[in-house]
Amino acid sequence: MRVLIIEDDPGIADGLSATLKRTGYAVDTAGTLREAMAAVSVESFDIILLDLGLPDGDGLEGLRLLRQQGRTTPVLIMTARDELPSKVQGLDEGADDYLVKPFQPEELLARMRVALRRNEGRANPELIHGPLDIDLAARTVKRDGQPITLRTKEFELLMVLVRAAGQVVTRQRLEEALYSFDEPLESNALDVHIHHLRRKLGDDLVKTVRGVGYFVPRPERKA
Ligand code: CA
Repeated sequence: MRVLIIEDDPGIADGLSATLKRTGYAVDTAGTLREAMAAVSVESFDIILLDLGLPDGDGLEGLRLLRQQGRTTPVLIMTARDELPSKVQGLDEGADDYLVKPFQPEELLARMRVALRRNEGRANPELIHGPLDIDLAARTVKRDGQPITLRTKEFELLMVLVRAAGQVVTRQRLEEALYSFDEPLESNALDVHIHHLRRKLGDDLVKTVRGVGYFVPRPERKA
């Protein structure tokens, strides 16, 4: 999952970034509205964390722009202003949730999971896919009830593919979801992760579409 942090306080931005990277998110940061809008126009983010007081404008302006452009990316507002009006306005402008600074990382992570789940129209916090049972909060995977140990990027890759089950996900989209701007990306990194996923979860799960990308078939419905 790729997250964009829009925050001008370097201390807060670095702290958040470190927490999210540890959790497995690919993280980019923008310190101004202008930078943020430029990033959003070239990369697809899965979720955005938005500070309201930015040097070149109000975060709400950015939010309005995003929604006007038809972008449905979940946005969580982070605000030091704990007055009611700015929260309400933020939600009315198209934010999915808000956090009042200072907040605990656990709360942020939980709210991010909720926003992502809602965005996908899921109520269940677990992703069930055929024999796979993926717990997004604990970041654990079981196949036929047996726990399987995945590395961070493998877990992220599996989540992206399972969330899009039945559709081909392009290599570019997968690389965007897994790597931020500043992470070095070896040209075969994706193939290596796919290879490990197949070894750990079985050859039948991830299918290759040569020259395009990968997909996980929709699980067969039990009659
Ligand atoms: Ca600020």
